[in-house]
Amino acid sequence: MLERIDSELFNDIALVYKGLGISRAHISADMETTPDMLCELLDEARPQIPKTDVRLFPTSFNAGPSLRGFPLPLTHRWLSCERSFSEMRPTAVMAHLPHFWQLEIPLHAACRRESAPIFFGEPENIPVAAAAIASASIDTVIAGAPASFALSSYVLQKRLPLPPHWILIHDAFAASWEIPAPLRTADGMVFQEVHAFPGLPILEQCATLTQARSAHFHRSNSFVWDATEKTAYITSTGDDPFPLYRYVVPFTIEPLHTCDCGQEVVTRKL
Ligand SMILES: [Zn+2]
Repeated sequence: MLERIDSELFNDIALVYKGLGISRAHISADMETTPDMLCELLDEARPQIPKTDVRLFPTSFNAGPSLRGFPLPLTHRWLSCERSFSEMRPTAVMAHLPHFWQLEIPLHAACRRESAPIFFGEPENIPVAAAAIASASIDTVIAGAPASFALSSYVLQKRLPLPPHWILIHDAFAASWEIPAPLRTADGMVFQEVHAFPGLPILEQCATLTQARSAHFHRSNSFVWDATEKTAYITSTGDDPFPLYRYVVPFTIEPLHTCDCGQEVVTRKL
């Protein structure tokens, strides 16, 4: 299940880090990038980042002292969302997401591919979101998992139609990954994703996995995964402007079986 990080991948990433001005003391093949270490690396790279063609995404789901801008390519696409859309075929989409997550541009691109209009709302403004659902034929909602509880409860309480399709984003650092009861039994499709930080999916679901409405996932193939008994690490495989190297994810995973789609099914190891 788990892969070894080959020396070629390490050398490629070390070269990018050196180009970004990150000190050699921070770069070694067995280094671990904790969230705090990521802040240090990004701080060291900060003078170089404005010289590159990148878009910045927040390194945390919440504003706070550990929040930094994480550079991704201007062409960065939210591929798991695009794959989910190709199964759901949305008519109209609502993004029920904090603006500072910076997901508007990749989400807009995903909607354009489906020729679906998109409404952007803030999770704090549930009545407006409910009004949009009622009046704009919205059939697909993208929300952080905790915000989906409040919104789906409000919609049901007001006796409005619950949109059939949802994409729920779980914070990798959340203690548990839950979905609201109404969405566990609804007729449509509910795709769940786990993001290391907003816009960086590390666990995803295919159409088959959505049927069980459980916390079973496929590992994102944008990363190499390796692990010890207690810790899992992800390393970027692409030519990202700031590749992650052995970034510590706050859980370990265990393999379950092979999915109908051919990929390995994993769950969080308790
Ligand atoms: Zn699958």
